[in-house]
Amino acid sequence: MVKEMDKTEKDWKLELSPEQYRVLRQCGTEPPFSGKYVHHKEDGTYVCAGCGAELFSSDKKFESGSGWPSFWDKISEDSVELKRDTSHGMIRTEVVCANCGGHLGHVFRDGPNPTGLRYCINSAALDFKSKEKN
Ligand code: FE
Repeated sequence: MVKEMDKTEKDWKLELSPEQYRVLRQCGTEPPFSGKYVHHKEDGTYVCAGCGAELFSSDKKFESGSGWPSFWDKISEDSVELKRDTSHGMIRTEVVCANCGGHLGHVFRDGPNPTGLRYCINSAALDFKSKEKN
């Protein structure tokens, strides 16, 4: 269940950069190959840029060629939630942060083994914690 944090849209707007706000709170998508984590290869943990919750691990990141950071699994069972998204004339599965409800991206069934999933995530929705600092 999404535990919506007790924040207003005004609070989010003050806290996030314009691009983070557009993606996380308005279901925006950054242009392909524009985000800072597309080719990012450090070992560590990707957390929600909105609330800091751990979402994805570098262990499960792969080069999809799509232009967005891609993961074949989430970091834990309850880190993200999936929602049916019928916007823009497509049927897709939206991925949101389970903690704050922020929009992260979409998940597709054309990923590598063992899951066959491709979590296609906007860099703007993520922050990175490198392993050495953990
Ligand atoms: Fe979050």
